[in-house]
Amino acid sequence: MLATESSSAISFALTEGQRAARDAAREFARREIDPLVDEIDEAQRFPGELFVQAGELGFLGILVPEEYGGSGMGYVEYVLIVSELAQVDASIGLSVAAHNSLCTGHILKFGSEEQRRRWVVPLARGEKIGAWSLTEPGAGSDAAGTRSTARKVDGGWILDGAKTFTTHGSVGDYCVVFAVTDPDGPRHHNVSAFVLEKGMDGFQPGKKENKLGTRASDTAEVIMDNCFVPDGHLLGERGEGFIQALEILDGGRISIAALGLGIAEGAYRTALAYAQEREQFGRPIAKFQAVQFHLAEMATRVAAAEALVMAAALEMDRTGKVTRLAAQAKLFAGEASVFCAERGVQIHGGYGFVKDYRAEKFYRDCKICTIGEGTSEIQRLVISRQLLKGG
Ligand SMILES: Cc1cc2nc3c(=O)[nH]c(=O)nc-3n(C[C@H](O)[C@H](O)[C@H](O)COP(=O)(O)OP(=O)(O)OC[C@H]3O[C@@H](n4cnc5c(N)ncnc54)[C@H](O)[C@@H]3O)c2cc1C
Repeated sequence: MLATESSSAISFALTEGQRAARDAAREFARREIDPLVDEIDEAQRFPGELFVQAGELGFLGILVPEEYGGSGMGYVEYVLIVSELAQVDASIGLSVAAHNSLCTGHILKFGSEEQRRRWVVPLARGEKIGAWSLTEPGAGSDAAGTRSTARKVDGGWILDGAKTFTTHGSVGDYCVVFAVTDPDGPRHHNVSAFVLEKGMDGFQPGKKENKLGTRASDTAEVIMDNCFVPDGHLLGERGEGFIQALEILDGGRISIAALGLGIAEGAYRTALAYAQEREQFGRPIAKFQAVQFHLAEMATRVAAAEALVMAAALEMDRTGKVTRLAAQAKLFAGEASVFCAERGVQIHGGYGFVKDYRAEKFYRDCKICTIGEGTSEIQRLVISRQLLKGG
């Protein structure tokens, strides 16, 4: 069963435009994504055809102003869309989120007018797929530990290094990558961001990962081997790439929070329906208080996650400053998705352990929410640092 209505009162506070965005995403998820979910998950196939349709609906330029080919919507619409998609397939939710908030968002925020016209417009229209490569084998949580290098040469830079776990690392057309340009510079001011284009000499995908969950969202290594990148591909100030990445990750964490919310809600609604259908001891299992209490815990976490995700989205739209709230939303919604997915499997009993029911898929997909764009442990670090700074 698919989700029907949002579980909290927040949906009643939405504007007409926000409801329309949510409803369009819900309709797309039910009609176009749902029939493909099992096939693309099993085959680990990135569904390019769904991405084309998502582009036509404006879901690949959600936060991009209309003058750059986008939909000109805000973070509230953005989290509604990502969570609706994730209720049906977290892979699509994750891919749409990474495309919008990481690659496209980075070029929009830090690119020049010329760079926006060149790269943001096709990304926002859904004609090109975006990737964003920060993580390296030796630089995960310690994201400032970048080892990839960019050496200045006449007219550009030579990039060398390897990135790991890049969403759209194989299928991406444009990739924002981070490399050390100033090895003797101060630790947080020695890395710069560049745009690489598919087909550039020395830039290629590496191993595609075989994943536990979100299997239809492409994740791969990215290799730069003596790759010449023209000067015009440097984004913003030289040496400021890591600081740019931190800003982008604030928005990215709202994306993963929305993903977690969608998974939590999908797992809850699926379990609620199953508990009312499945009979044991001559009655639906929903009549047993033990099962009712599981559902009560799940519904409460969904409602609380929704409140935090919406608070972060509203604050982002209002002030653009959300470091603490984004981390809190991501921490809570990510952990809520794991809680709800686990309880969902429990309510399904043995049927939760097999692929005939979606409970099993929620249980695999949810785990990315406590890892990607900063683990839960790193969110706690971010939150406590902000609290101690008085933020
Ligand atoms: C499906 C998927 C998609 C991804 N997409 C992208 C992408 O598009 N672009 C990109 O750049 N990256 C991407 N990532 C990478 C992701 O952001 C990293 O995996 C994540 O930041 C964790 O880094 P790590 O895997 O190296 O783990 P590690 O940093 O090695 O962490 C291992 C464990 O140690 C803990 N730990 C580490 N440091 C501390 C500390 N100081 N205090 C307490 N605990 C600590 C962590 O919380 C974790 O539990 C993706 C990852 C996955 C799995």
